[in-house]
This record gives sequence, C-alpha cells and structure tokens, in this order.
Amino acid sequence: MTSVKQFTPKLWVEEGIAKTMQVASVAPVSAFDRLYSFAIPENLVSAIAPGQRVTVPVGRRGRLIDGFVLDISEREWDTTLKFIDSPIDDRSWIDEHLLELGRWIARYYCAPIGRALAAMVPATVRKQSGFRRVRHIWRAQSLEEIEASVSRIGPKQRILLEALPDGGEAVRADEICERIGVSSATLRETIKRGWVAERIEKHARDAPNFDRPIDEPDFTLNDEQQQACTAVAEAIERREFKVQLLFGVSGSGKTEVYIDAIRRVVAAGRQAIVLVPEIALTTQLVHRFASRLRDVAVIHSGLTGAERSLTWNAIHTGQKRVVIGARSAVFAPCRDLGLIVVDEEQENSYKSQQSPRLHARDVAIKRAQLLNIPVVLGSATPSLETWHNCRVHDHYESIHLTHRVAGLEMPEVEVVDMRYEEHARHGAHLLSRLLEKRLGDALARGEQVVLMLNRRGYAQVLYCPKCKNRVLCHNCKAGMVFHQLTGEAVCHHCFAKIPAPRSCADPSCATRLIPLGLGTERAEAEVRRKFPDARVRRVDSDTMKNVRAYEKVVSDFEARKFDIMIGTQIVAKGLDFPFVSLVGVLSADTALYQPDFRANEGTFQLVTQVAGRAGRARSGGRVVVQTVMGELPALQAATRHDFPAFAERELEIRRETRMPPFTRLTRWVLSDASESILKHAAGEFAETVREACRQLGLSPADVMGPFPCPLERIRRMYRYDILLRTSTAAERAKLLDYLRHEKKLHAKVKRMIIDIDPVSLL
Ligand code: ADP
Ligand code: ZN
Repeated sequence: MTSVKQFTPKLWVEEGIAKTMQVASVAPVSAFDRLYSFAIPENLVSAIAPGQRVTVPVGRRGRLIDGFVLDISEREWDTTLKFIDSPIDDRSWIDEHLLELGRWIARYYCAPIGRALAAMVPATVRKQSGFRRVRHIWRAQSLEEIEASVSRIGPKQRILLEALPDGGEAVRADEICERIGVSSATLRETIKRGWVAERIEKHARDAPNFDRPIDEPDFTLNDEQQQACTAVAEAIERREFKVQLLFGVSGSGKTEVYIDAIRRVVAAGRQAIVLVPEIALTTQLVHRFASRLRDVAVIHSGLTGAERSLTWNAIHTGQKRVVIGARSAVFAPCRDLGLIVVDEEQENSYKSQQSPRLHARDVAIKRAQLLNIPVVLGSATPSLETWHNCRVHDHYESIHLTHRVAGLEMPEVEVVDMRYEEHARHGAHLLSRLLEKRLGDALARGEQVVLMLNRRGYAQVLYCPKCKNRVLCHNCKAGMVFHQLTGEAVCHHCFAKIPAPRSCADPSCATRLIPLGLGTERAEAEVRRKFPDARVRRVDSDTMKNVRAYEKVVSDFEARKFDIMIGTQIVAKGLDFPFVSLVGVLSADTALYQPDFRANEGTFQLVTQVAGRAGRARSGGRVVVQTVMGELPALQAATRHDFPAFAERELEIRRETRMPPFTRLTRWVLSDASESILKHAAGEFAETVREACRQLGLSPADVMGPFPCPLERIRRMYRYDILLRTSTAAERAKLLDYLRHEKKLHAKVKRMIIDIDPVSLL
C-alpha cells in the first residue's frame, strides 16, 4: 500500500514538476515523546491540515501508527523522508489556538504532545458518530456513450440514467431513487458498470436539544450582584484576559451573575463555556441554564457517542452558543469564544487522573489568556491557590457576594464532639442525641433532611466471613475501624492502632478477613430503625449506577416523595432543595488519618458545602456536624462561615511549611510488582532529579523521597513516591525541560506517572 505512494514523488522530480515538497511534523498518539517529519503526497496536500489525525509509517518495517499533524512547511526535496500514509479525520478539529493550548499542556504537564491533543477531541467526535451518510451520484458518461458501449440497458437502469442531469451534476441518491421509483439494487448495478459515479458525504443530524421554554424569575438583582455583573461585563467588552474570582456564599446568587455575563457574550455573537463538576450536571443546573439561555449544549458522561459527536459538531458550527460541561468541555471547539466560567473552581474533579493530568481550571485560564478573554471562577470556598493569586497577581480580581439573596440567613451550625458523646453514652452511636432530636423535630414539621456520611473518615470493620468475628481492640473489646489509607486498624475509643491483620485470628480458621461496610448502608438501617415512619433513600456510588438513577432520586426528592436523603459526599454538591431544613454530617473527619497537607482545606470545604444545602428557601436552616476533632480550627471557622479567617490561618501554615500555593509540587509515582526493583530504581531516579537540580542551581534538598505511598499497594503493584518542590512554576518548567531534553525522565520500573500540581498525595 505504501509502496505505490513511494513512487509518486519520483515521477514529479523526473518530470521537473516539483523541486520542493510539503513536509508535516507529526506527533504520534502514544507514550513516545518525540516528533517525526513526513512528506505529504501530492494528492493529499489539500486534504491535510494542522491539527488533523493521520496514519504514518514508522520503524524499518513501516508499521502504521496514528499521529497529529502539528505544522506543515515547504522544504527542499528530501528523499530520506517517508510519506504520510493517509488522513484519519476528514477535517481538523483542532484549530490554531487549540493547537497552541495543546503545546502548552504538553510542556506544562510533561506529557507527549500527541497525548495532549488526543485528550482534546473525544474519539466519537473524530469518528463522526451519529452522522448520516448521504450518497451523491452523477452520470459518469453521457447517455450516448453508454448506449454506444453496450447492446442493452435494463429498463429500470435507463429510467435512472435519464433522470440524472446532463453535465455531470451531482444529486442526492436517496431523493432521486425515491422520486422515480428505482431500487438501490439498480443504482448499485449502474455504479458497478461505471455509468454512474458516487460520493459519500457525512451530514450531521441535530444535536440533542436542551432548550426549554424561557422562564424568567421575577426578582431583580441586588446591589452586590449588579456590581459583580458590571465588573464581568467590563472585562468582556474590553476583550481582555482577566481572572475574576466570584467569591460568594452558597445562595448568594452567583449563577445569576454567570447568566448575565453569558447573555452579553451571546448577544455579541460569541460563545461561552461553563465548566461544572460532573456531579452538578444533573437536571437542576441544566434546567436552570436551559430555561434562561438559548442554544445550550451539554457535555456529560451520560451522553452516547453519537450525542457527544453531534454536540461537538454543533458547537463547532456555532449552532450551539453556550456549552455546559464537566472537565472535557474546556476543549469545546468554539470558533469565537468570549468567556469561560468555572463553577466551584476548588473542586478536585477538575483534575484529570489520566495522562495528561491536567487541571481543567488551569487549562481554562490558559485558554482564556491565549484568546484574550476573561475567566470567571465561582466558589463559596475558593482554593487557596486562587485566593492567593488574587492577592499577588494583577490580572486576578476578586469580587465578593457577601450575603445570601432575599434576606436568607446562613444556617446555624452545631458541632457535636463524638468523643464526649461516646463517653457519656458508654459506646459508639451513629446518631448523636442532638442530631437525633433535630431530625425528629424536622420530620415532625414535615421538612426534609439530608444526612451525609464521609465514607473516607468513617471506614469499615474487619470481619471474618466464616467465624463471624470482628477484629477487636485489646483494650476496649470494641470493633476496630479499618483504615485503608494507613493499613491500620484503629480503635475509635482509645485510639490504639495495630497493623490491620489480613486473616482471622483463630489459627484453625485463618480465613481472609473482609472489610465490612460501616458506611452509608449501616447509616440507612440505623435511621430507618430510629424513624420507622420516615421515607429514606440512600444515594451513593453503590445505588447510583448511572446519571439517570441520580437524576431520578434528585427529582423525587424535589417532589417530596421521600423525607431523608442519606449519602456520601455526592449529596453535598450543588443541589438546591427548598424544603431541606436540616443537614447532618455524620462524620466530618476527613482530616483524621489523612496524611495530606490539604486535609484542613478538605474539611472546611466539606462542611461549608453541606451547610449550603440547608435552608435555601426559608430561614432557620440548621446543620449538625459530628466529629471527633471539634477543636480543629478549620472546623471552627466553617461553623462561623468564615472563609477569610480560615484562609488566613491556613495560608500561614502553608507558608511556614513551604507548601502550595507558596511553592509548586510535582509528584512521581513509580510502581512495580517487585518491591526491591522498585526501591532501587526509584532511588536512582530521585538521584537523577537531584543531580539535575544541582546542574541548574536549584536545591537538591527539595527532592523528597523515594518513600512508600500512603496507599502502598494497589492491584498487586508496589508504589513509591518522589516529591519535588520548586519555588515557582518557571523553575519547575526549566528543570523538567532539562530532564526531558537529556532523556532522563524515566525509571526502570513497570510504570511511572508524573503529576504536576497534584491535588492529592494519596
Ligand atoms: P449560588 O449559585 O451563589 O449558590 P444561586 O444563583 O443558585 O446562588 O441563587 C440561589 C437562589 O436564589 C436561586 O433560586 C436564585 O433563583 C435565587 N436568587 C438569585 N438572585 C436573587 C435575587 N437577587 N433575589 C431573589 N432571589 C434570587
Ligand atoms: Zn480501644
């Protein structure tokens, strides 16, 4: 196949037609971190553009692989170059500036550029899933020529040939066949005989439509909202790059500010992207946007391949003006983007856990910078990175919405220290007396309740399925709680810790122990037992297998078909239920046993988020938080709804400990089935990085490790960590560029990942 094409260029040279050639630089879609040059065959010159996927032959045997064309240049004739085999996409989905963004991602996140570009276009989009194939036909010869060449033309075939326009004009096959009553078998026959020629075009069907009847609210924006709208409007009109933090407590009306900004952008004929955490992409938020704005596209994980592909296309053609979506929507192929909104910008789900491990908020900011447009970051609990950036960077601006709208109060937060509770009641209970009372009161008043259990903090007991025994504390004879993070069994009474046993303590049994759910399931049973008349539903990843199931439970709760929603963190996010008057956090102890410098931040965010669910439509919402660390300052600040105080204290700690946002972290996770190989190779690699630091005048002491990861062993692979701390992103880029250039960015292990600005160190 390739050999035929290899001959073409020689002919050009011999005939003196071409002395130069078009050469494409191609980035393979693989872990290979390098670029190749390929000549473009003359017949493909007009069909290949930068950003397009092509297949190219590599290696001595010319194995065909996929790659992206990065750029095309004209060069002197060079016979050593191989030729591009064929284009894969029939057009480029990645325009000039997205290509630039791809280059930035590849460099910043230290990923092969082919991988970075592949992450920008979903596979179903490239394959144009959901497009209709439309056949166009025309007569390849005149009727006279055909008659002269054969003795007989079938009557049906003649009808078709006569119906086709003279002069080779193409018509749609389905239309003409239908009109003259000719079958497709007849058509195929005439094509086979060379009388009729055909061309297949792919036509997009309609993308899913989310628009609903326009439903304007009857309130007017308050002063703070109006000031926020003005500030954002100015940046939009000036078409300048700017990052605007919209910092407002839950229920302060941030969404109204987004809508106002998006309308301005759309009115100017441009497009807008709204990024939201995946879980928020349920009916509530989408309905709200779709009943206020036109031509809304929604990108979420529940779309079929065809829906996704058609949506992408409709954004590309400009038919859809407003894109709402999770992480991947940051790459929506808008032709004329005027604004990006990132709601809940602190959410960790914006960080991809696959290469390239990008953070969609940071990519959004870069995209905005390349396009000279503003980004709005919305949050009630901004990330400390963003909060810090607002203080030190001129292109950051923070806009505050300090009150809940329409005079709503922030809910009252009560903290119950479960250590005293246990002591007073001589044993552990899932529901404190206070929470139980508040629950009973709320139900008696016919109000709804959300209960949240953070499975992480609240782990599981180790249970022998054969003897039905649990691992017990030697001091307390109480069941010990299994913490996967540390691999320890911990007594929540006396805080005794032991390495978690793997098998039953009875030597004659020695059956492998299983961790038994003490999570949402047990909470559900307990609540049902205590409140037999209440209608209870559980919402967690076990019961919510897909988006539809989640949507259903949300709409049932809205319709007050049940009273108590119990779930993991999933219930804390972004939902707005007017009849919820009480939110209970069964355990707020994220930070406990979590060896992560972001633990306090996580605790603050969690409590603030759940508090945001309470009392959205009436005053007197209440929150009860159960914890074993009542004195934790982050928790205290959260009960007072005081983010600035929390941030100030936490930033001080980060500065002292030289942690982000005052420094940049880079994490390598190396894994291998053999621990000794891993340990050795990880040590070698860490030494390589230290040596590079010395070369570049950075401190080798800022390379930490290797040490075993907190989650030491996953799927039979041992894991080791190496952490790098640099003062700035620029310093890190310099170091990584150097290592990459020297081809030293690898270790002799099964797998090595690099995580730039990790959001978690687990
Ligand atoms: P946030 O996104 O900050 O949590 P929302 O934008 O969801 O807040 O607003 C909360 C509720 O208040 C919504 O139901 C919204 O329609 C309503 N709302 C927003 N602005 C106003 C206002 N100025 N007056 C009255 N109600 C408002
Ligand atoms: Zn104990």
